[in-house]
Amino acid sequence: MRLPARITRFKLQKSAEDVDLVLRQVVRDAAHRVPFYRDLYGKAAIDVSRFGAPKDLSALPLSSREAFQESPERGLLRDGRDPHHLARTSTSGSTGKPLTIYLSRSELYFRRYSILAGLRHYVPLRFPLHVADVGSMVPHGGKSVEQSLGIVRILRIPGNAPLPEQRAALLHYRPAVLEGYPTCLGILAESFSETEARLVRPSLVATRGEWLRDDAREVLRRTFRAPVVSLYNCEEVGNLAWECPDHNGRFHLNHDTCVLEVVDAHGDPTTGEGDVVVTSLYNRTMPFLRYDLDDRAQLVGDADTTCPCGAAGPWLTDLSGSEDDFVSFPDGHRIAPLVLPNALFNAFRVPDDPHRLSPSVRRYQIVQDADYSLRVILDWRGPYDEVLWKQITSEMDRACQGLRCTVERSAAFELTPAGKFKEVLSQVRSAAAPTGSAPTSAA
Ligand SMILES: [Zn+2]
Repeated sequence: MRLPARITRFKLQKSAEDVDLVLRQVVRDAAHRVPFYRDLYGKAAIDVSRFGAPKDLSALPLSSREAFQESPERGLLRDGRDPHHLARTSTSGSTGKPLTIYLSRSELYFRRYSILAGLRHYVPLRFPLHVADVGSMVPHGGKSVEQSLGIVRILRIPGNAPLPEQRAALLHYRPAVLEGYPTCLGILAESFSETEARLVRPSLVATRGEWLRDDAREVLRRTFRAPVVSLYNCEEVGNLAWECPDHNGRFHLNHDTCVLEVVDAHGDPTTGEGDVVVTSLYNRTMPFLRYDLDDRAQLVGDADTTCPCGAAGPWLTDLSGSEDDFVSFPDGHRIAPLVLPNALFNAFRVPDDPHRLSPSVRRYQIVQDADYSLRVILDWRGPYDEVLWKQITSEMDRACQGLRCTVERSAAFELTPAGKFKEVLSQVRSAAAPTGSAPTSAA
């Protein structure tokens, strides 16, 4: 007997038929019950009753983080859902465009479990799994979903903690899986002596949130003597794709969580390089349909393709996003690109509801000038909020480790000489991306 789509969306190892069934339901449901999509598809005169399979996605208009930010929050949620009674996530400062994501409790569990399940492609999962996560600066007062279920024990090591403290924490904890931003892990790995590193011995190093560069991969592999892989995650959906165990830079799609497309400038699927667009298969509370992630990649192969590692279907290559810079200090030490954005992101949290972000900041940028001082540029909307402003300035004062830091309200972001936007842009000579950058989406 076939299960209804509302149950099948939580299935692991979905078949092509499962994906068709769930996708049909997700699209039709959103078109009827979510104001944002009702308007979007209404204006484009889309008849979703004829929507049948992933190939029909190209008839639907794209959505984006900017469009979501412009919409009233309730307009993004299924009719009748109350944001105050929903689970939410906003744990990553890696996009420059803050957005709170709402989910039901079971959707939140599935999101987290799918990220964890991704690790099984590389190592046998023995529970409870001991994970050390390096880089994120999320205030985790309570237990996360996996911790409450007792299947994971996580040690979070902030990326801006002094390196001796980070090393001591790892040596004491000895995780089975070492995960985090490759830039943070790279700086930490470089600080280990060979003797010390031998005592850590993880079975796997899994990076996320930024592009894993070859030099950083090599430093991590040499230091921790474990396989080093990259996961393509985003806050909105969770795990989108996982790196082939046999081919660096080849990413197999996660058919349990999403349908992923690569599209050209007109939003049509392309076999060349294009924008990564994703449709979540399980979030019916706040659906993400043909949602542009601001990342670039190419899809290789088709449904009949099989990788020598056994994974079926097309894979992603040439994945790239924005290239963020390290923040440098006059004495030569550096902090990884996503550390300060994460601190800033934490300052956006609503004090009595820390998983929700204040909607006052539409976009931000951190610029380091040639004299090492920092400027935080905030594209502010709505009225001035003194409490939030104080929260931002004091959090940044703390995070900047003695560098002068000013905060300004402006939408005049600075671009690189090539005209590109960077979330963290450094004018200090030789600061540009030594060991890592992008894709921007992270979870
Ligand atoms: Zn493979």
